[in-house]
Amino acid sequence: MPGLPAWDLAACARPGVDPAWFTDAEDAAEADTYIGLAKRVCRTCPIELDCRAWAVATSQPGIYGGRTESERLGRRRRRRRPSPSPSPSPDLQEAS
Ligand code: SF4
Repeated sequence: MPGLPAWDLAACARPGVDPAWFTDAEDAAEADTYIGLAKRVCRTCPIELDCRAWAVATSQPGIYGGRTESERLGRRRRRRRPSPSPSPSPDLQEAS
C-alpha cells in the first residue's frame, strides 16, 4: 500500500492472513465470512485508524481500517448530509 505509513506493522501482512479476506466483492457468496475474518484482523492492527484514513483519502476498494468500502462511503455520506429540519410545532400541525 504505497503512501500508507508504517505498512510494515500491518496486521494483514502477518503470516496466515489471506489477502482474499479483504475482498472488494461485498456481494459474493463467501463475502460475509471473509469480511468477518478481515475485520477481526483489522481490530488487532496498530495502524487501523491511519489505514482507514488512507483508504478514504485514496478511494480504495475492499476492506481497509476495519471497514468495507460501502461502510466507509456510508460514513462519509452521513457526515456530509445537512442536519434535518426541526419538526413543525404541534400548533402548526393542527392548522394544516
Ligand atoms: S487496518 Fe486492516 S487492512 Fe489496514 S493495514 Fe491493518 S490489517 Fe491491513
